[in-house]
Amino acid sequence: MSIKLRTSLWFTLMVLLLSVMILVFVLVINGAAVTGDPAERLVKVVTKNTEDVEFDNGKFDWDDLDLYKKGVSCSVYNIDGEFLKGAVSESIDLSGYPLKDGLLREESFNGKDYLIYDTYVDMDVSGIWIRGLVENVWSSGLMDTIITLTFILLPSILVLAFGGGWLISWGAFRPMNKILAAADSISGGSDLSARINLKRGPSEMKKLSRSFDSMFERLQKSFETERQFASDASHELRTPITVILAQCDRAKRKDKTPEDFTNSINVIEEQTRNMSQLVQGLLGLTRLQHGTDRYKLKKADLSQFCLACAGEFVPEDDRGIELTCNVENGIEAEFNAALMQRLIQNLLQNAYKYGREKGHVCLTLKKADGRAVLSVKDDGIGIAPDDIDKIWQRFWQADPSRNESGSSGLGLSMVKEIAEFHGGTARVESSPGKGSEFIITI
Ligand code: ADP
Repeated sequence: MSIKLRTSLWFTLMVLLLSVMILVFVLVINGAAVTGDPAERLVKVVTKNTEDVEFDNGKFDWDDLDLYKKGVSCSVYNIDGEFLKGAVSESIDLSGYPLKDGLLREESFNGKDYLIYDTYVDMDVSGIWIRGLVENVWSSGLMDTIITLTFILLPSILVLAFGGGWLISWGAFRPMNKILAAADSISGGSDLSARINLKRGPSEMKKLSRSFDSMFERLQKSFETERQFASDASHELRTPITVILAQCDRAKRKDKTPEDFTNSINVIEEQTRNMSQLVQGLLGLTRLQHGTDRYKLKKADLSQFCLACAGEFVPEDDRGIELTCNVENGIEAEFNAALMQRLIQNLLQNAYKYGREKGHVCLTLKKADGRAVLSVKDDGIGIAPDDIDKIWQRFWQADPSRNESGSSGLGLSMVKEIAEFHGGTARVESSPGKGSEFIITI
């Protein structure tokens, strides 16, 4: 049974129960007024009023009398039959109607049957008459209303309750189809970019749609980084593997001298080291994008940290370059130490690699607009304006011949990923032949 049907049935059942409860309540509280023998009701009400009349200091006190009760209208007359007080209907004129003690009479007024009952209250010195009038029907007008409500209005209310419940739940669950369609197309692998993007609908569904969309986003990113990893790895490893296989072939030839053999081993070793570096770099990058390694952020003194990194820095090849630090004191930031060290190392390594021989590299840290700005500046070869946007791409290198010295073209991609991981940005300012400055804002 669908949720829509269940909800609507529940609504209807509740309305039905409520109506039955109200009906029972009305009948229990005022049952006698709406049903029962009218003669019995008439005599009871008049007799009760008779008992409530008091005579004090030569005056009647009839304040406690019920002049209208259980459908019975009562009126009070003096000993001479003159009307004193009471609930009289304008359409029924009882003024000339003789008062008769203890007699129950039937009379017709305006085409309706009534019962009349009079009693004389004797107070020795004086007396009064109490007359009761009731419609001679076993069910009163109130009962007719209840019957009308029960048999005409109640079914309409039930239909309304069912229809309303159905409509509300239909409206609430309609966006579900959109969510299911998006989930289906993603699980079918046909369209990873599918999103629900629910603009209208109940707030709960909009929330659900937003969480699904962010989950789909993560899924898409995760699939794409994996795909990228596989394609990058297979592409980049192809060359070193070919070189290794060629060297193995060469080494196996019988007429090779021990020097040739050692050369082949050296080439294989270098290629293997390159491969290992490349795989490590790629893995680090993929993990960062993937979020598989949970890099924790911690608030710490970035100034001290930068100085420590610069102090520990060992260039891959020392070309007589001088490193200076221009670090503002006491800059605090939330960062991951391992990643930040990697970022600084990569930038310094590049500055030394592409810097001028016996040149100058400067590491700067300052605060601007509440953000920490870290920069590494060199006075080396610089970057051509056309290449400025390309340097952040994986494996991109201005001069691929440097690949043999162990560069993989992943360093700056990692720098950018780390900066973005910290909610920051990475950019470069460079002029060919003069030098470059890499600026990281976090
Ligand atoms: P790798 O240094 O391993 O080649 P990177 O991703 O670190 O890879 O750098 C990509 C490319 O950007 C380099 O090959 C180089 O052409 C250029 N580049 C990086 N840093 C500098 C720099 N400080 N000066 C000039 N060019 C640079």
